[in-house]
Amino acid sequence: MKAIVIGGGIGGLSAAIALKQCGIETEVYEAVKQIKPVGAAISIWPNGVKCLNWLGMKEQLRKLGGPLEYMSYRDFRHNQTMTRFSLDPLVQSVGERPWPVARAGLQDMLLDTYGRSDVQFGKRVVSVESFADGVRATFEDGHTAEADLLIAADGAHSAIRSWVIGYQTERRYAGYVNWNGLVTLDDSLAPANQWTTWVGEGKRVSLMPVAGNRFYFFFDVPLPTGLAEDRDTARADLQRYFSGWADPVQQLIAQIDPQTTNRIEIHDIEPLETLVRGRVALLGDAGHSTTPDIGQGGCAAMEDAVVLAMTLKTHSLGIEDALLRYQEKRAWRVKDLVLKARKRCDVTHGKDMQETKAWYADLYQETGDRILAGMRETIVGGPLG
Ligand code: FAD
Repeated sequence: MKAIVIGGGIGGLSAAIALKQCGIETEVYEAVKQIKPVGAAISIWPNGVKCLNWLGMKEQLRKLGGPLEYMSYRDFRHNQTMTRFSLDPLVQSVGERPWPVARAGLQDMLLDTYGRSDVQFGKRVVSVESFADGVRATFEDGHTAEADLLIAADGAHSAIRSWVIGYQTERRYAGYVNWNGLVTLDDSLAPANQWTTWVGEGKRVSLMPVAGNRFYFFFDVPLPTGLAEDRDTARADLQRYFSGWADPVQQLIAQIDPQTTNRIEIHDIEPLETLVRGRVALLGDAGHSTTPDIGQGGCAAMEDAVVLAMTLKTHSLGIEDALLRYQEKRAWRVKDLVLKARKRCDVTHGKDMQETKAWYADLYQETGDRILAGMRETIVGGPLG
C-alpha cells in the first residue's frame, strides 16, 4: 500500500511517521522549500505526548520540553496571585506530563524521525482526483503523483479541503490578535517551572518554559482585523495595549526581540462533519482549524495520525472503509475540541465582559481542582486515553 501525504507540518509528518511504521510506503510533498513554523512554541498536552511516544519520539521529546510543574494566574495590575497550583495531580491522573516545546525543535524532531531527505520540498499541490483504485495529486510545477490513498495535511488554508467536503469554508475571526516568541528564562519575570498567566481587561500575557533556558511568551489582545501593525511596531503596540499592567509584563515587553515576534490574527473554522472522500482524508488543521485557547490544534493533529494508522492497520475491508472509520472516530472529537476552544476563547477575551469578570473572580477561589478536571476530560478523550 502506498500513501501520498500533502504537507510537512506537525500533522503531515506525524501521519507519515505513523504510516511508515505500519509498513505503508509514503511520499511526503511540502509546498515550501524551507518550513518556517508560524509560531514560536507549542504546548503539547499529555494526549499529544502519548501520541508522540506511540510514534517513537519519547526520549527526544523530553529533551525539547520545558518543566511545566505549576500553573498560576496573576492579576494584571497588581501582580497578585489569583491562583497557583501543582500540575502533578493531572500528571498522575492521566499518566503523562505536558511538554511545552519550541516549534523549530519539534519540526526538526519530526523531520529527523521521518527522514528529512525523504520529504519533497517545493511541491505545492493544486488538485487531487480519484480513479477506480487510487488517487492522483497534481502539483504547481506539473508533476503528478499516484498512490492508493492521500492524506491532506496542508493546513488551515488547505487546497484539498473543498474537494473533500464539497463546499468552500470560511475562516471565522475569533476577535483577538496573538503575539508570540521566545525570551531567555528570567526568574524576575516568572518561575522557570511554571505556566504563568496575567489576565485583565479581556487580555492575557503568558510565559511557559521550553528547553534551552527559554520562555515561550504570548500576548493576546481583542482587536479588529487588518490593523497596520507589524514587527517594526510590535514593542510600541504592546506597550500601548498593556499600559498600566504590572512590572513583569513591562519588563517582558522590554526584553522581547520584535524582529522574531510573531503577530497572528486568530481564526477557526466551523467544525466539519466530513473528513474523508473515498481514498482521501483530511488531517490536522486541514480538517479542523481551531483557536489555540486550549492548546489542542497540534495535539489533535498528532491524534489524527495515530488513529489513521490504527484504523488502516486493524481493518481489512479496504482503504475506503478504514478511512470512514477514521472519520467516525475523529469528527466528533475534533468538533468537541474546536468548540471547547471557542468557548474558552470568548471567556478569556472578553466577548461578554461580565462573564470574563466572573471568571476573574472565580480564579481567586480556584484550588486547581476545576481547571485540572477540565484539562483531564480533554486529555483522556484522546485515542490513547
Ligand atoms: P500546518 O502546521 O499549517 O502545516 C501545513 C503544511 O502544509 C505547511 O508546512 C504548509 O507549507 C504545507 N502546505 C500548505 N499548502 C500546501 C499545498 N497546497 N501543497 C503542499 N503543501 C502545502 N496547538 C497545540 O497543540 N498546542 C499549542 O499550544 C498551540 N498553540 C498555538 C498557538 C498559536 C498562536 C497558533 C496559531 C496555533 C497553535 N496551535 C497549538 C495549533 C497548531 O499550531 C496547529 O494545529 C498545527 O500547527 C497544525 O499542524 P498541521 O500540520 O495540520 O498544519
